[in-house]
Amino acid sequence: MKYYSLNHNAPKVSFEEAVIQGLAIDKGLYFPESITPLNPDFFSTIENLSNEEIAFEAIKQFVGDEIPDETLKQIIAETLCFDFPTVKVEDSIYALELYHGPTMAFKDVGARFMSRCLAYFNKDKKDSTNTVLVATSGDTGGAVASGFLGVQGVEVIILYPSEKVSDIQERQLTTLGQNIKALEVDGVFDDCQDMVKKAFLDESLKHKNLTSANSINIARWLPQMFYFFFAYKQLKSQNKALVFSCPSGNFGNICAGIMAKKLGLPIEHFVASTNVNDTVPRFLEKGNYDPKPSKATISNAMDVGNPSNFIRIQEMYNNDLEQFKKDFSSFSFTDAETLSAMKSIYKADGYIAEPHGAVGYLGLKKELQNHKNSIGIFLETAHPIKFLDVVEPALNIKLPIPAQIESVLHKEKVSIKIKSYEELKAFLG
Ligand SMILES: *Cc1c(COP(=O)(O)O)cnc(C)c1O
Repeated sequence: MKYYSLNHNAPKVSFEEAVIQGLAIDKGLYFPESITPLNPDFFSTIENLSNEEIAFEAIKQFVGDEIPDETLKQIIAETLCFDFPTVKVEDSIYALELYHGPTMAFKDVGARFMSRCLAYFNKDKKDSTNTVLVATSGDTGGAVASGFLGVQGVEVIILYPSEKVSDIQERQLTTLGQNIKALEVDGVFDDCQDMVKKAFLDESLKHKNLTSANSINIARWLPQMFYFFFAYKQLKSQNKALVFSCPSGNFGNICAGIMAKKLGLPIEHFVASTNVNDTVPRFLEKGNYDPKPSKATISNAMDVGNPSNFIRIQEMYNNDLEQFKKDFSSFSFTDAETLSAMKSIYKADGYIAEPHGAVGYLGLKKELQNHKNSIGIFLETAHPIKFLDVVEPALNIKLPIPAQIESVLHKEKVSIKIKSYEELKAFLG
């Protein structure tokens, strides 16, 4: 499979090159040259397949022959080492829980898949190391640290804003050691992000083979389509159309869902639910794309003013806004609405939703008014414990600490404090 840049000013590359580079040299996102729908038999017998078999069928064409089938199956098995249950919340409403992985965030899937692809591509390159550089506002960093831990030929450097991430999140980033280094930046998330962007453009760092591990990287983005297949497998016997609502920040998840639909997965409608960072809902309403600087909210993993994957979604719809609107809606919700939804879901249904999931639930409820006979599914993207400072006071409960989190709580934090880009550069060497 070849990948082209969505800026159309860079050579086409292989899967391997796209994974290693992250972004094309013209700064465009990579996109697969062709998308071939899967055989209808695959969907009619999907309930007989394991998650691993489903994932293999879904991702195979995007990897092509660049990873041998047996190795790809091994990578998938290591990626999907946990469950993806659909949990009934109300009549016709399910939560698709994506948080049962090692760091209790859905980003575990993409991080584990990408790290193992990089390790495979590096296995014979004795003297070359890739450096994965990521800025995190909290959630991505832990998943990347855990996903890449101990992977050969890859060094991971995570920048996070000092005192702006939760204690649990900080420990997930700073206690693993080995090939994972944490840089604690005296500043806010945007400062971390700016330093990372600058490093990618810095010619004098070329020898470091820098790559990113966020959803602009195809190996982080594409495996996210698996969840939609897993939900379909679980709910198929009810014989109803499915509406998915994704709490959206960089729009990687929902973009992967649309890819699953392109492969033939019967999905009736998508809802991109956002917090007050509403660039996409405004675009659908007014027709002009006008990104704004991000605003801080309680669903902070979605505090994104200019979602990087939206351009991929537009590509899948050939930039045809009318066609796109038939399949896709997007709604924005305030923190007050989110908190009130968390409370009502808990009170009426006994279900504990964290803020991102609650935003997804709100968007789903709104859209389902137009789909009376469908089943609605909202993605629950993190375990409530990851956002305990919001969840516990809002619901007036005390959450038990899950084993995955307990295991990092007594480990010692190791980080290096930096203040400026010059210090990052000196560290990279
Ligand atoms: C990253 C993240 C999101 C947003 O996902 P995108 O793919 O960037 O839209 C939502 N919820 C949580 C908890 C996240 O960590």
